[in-house]
Amino acid sequence: MSAVSQSHAVSIPRRGLMLILSSPSGAGKTTLTRDLLQDRSLNLELSISVTTRPRRSSEVDGIHYLFKSRQEFERMRAQDDLLEWAEVHGNFYGTPRSPVEAVLTQGRDMLFDIDYQGTQQVRQKAQDDVVTIFILPPSFKELRARLERRAEDAADVIAKRLENARNELTRWPSYDYVIVNEDIQVALASVKSILVAERLKRTRQQAGVETFVGQLLGET
Ligand code: 5GP
Repeated sequence: MSAVSQSHAVSIPRRGLMLILSSPSGAGKTTLTRDLLQDRSLNLELSISVTTRPRRSSEVDGIHYLFKSRQEFERMRAQDDLLEWAEVHGNFYGTPRSPVEAVLTQGRDMLFDIDYQGTQQVRQKAQDDVVTIFILPPSFKELRARLERRAEDAADVIAKRLENARNELTRWPSYDYVIVNEDIQVALASVKSILVAERLKRTRQQAGVETFVGQLLGET
């Protein structure tokens, strides 16, 4: 085999991380999430939440959410099947526990679109695995326009989301990173930079690097 055709791919094994994106409704987080998942080179797995919220016409059960009745949700919660859960805009949302551990153990990273209440719970349970990003809209006017453009929610639902957005905006201090989403491509590049840097943190690679350096030192 020639030197050129030899594979030099070095992969340091590590545990996967949990990349959490939070924002008020209308800050563009859904678009960001979609674009991150479409970039296959990032190899991100989405955590699919369960919710009691009615399905929007554009949503598919099992892809965007697992839509559940209140009773089913309460059963999952009682069985401790949820890593975290919260009531948002009058509906229940939660993260199924078992897929998360399976993905992280494989050394793959998982993306979460959850609110500040869920983020706090996950941080308490898995501090070392968690990276949190808060997305801000460029202005309140823009946030309102984005919610109205979506036009999938009824007027009273939009009004409730706007009211809640004021409260949610104040949650940014408990996040690791903050991005103002004025231009989706710029915001996307920022999230990717954070992900690349977090993957390279020594503490995440500790055991893998110890082995790798041991091998380097053993080379003659
Ligand atoms: P939407 O109804 O617009 O899809 O989501 C409303 C809010 O619920 C968003 O802020 C979203 O991040 C949050 N959310 C979605 N899934 C979960 C979840 O599993 N847990 C928590 N805590 N929040 C969630």
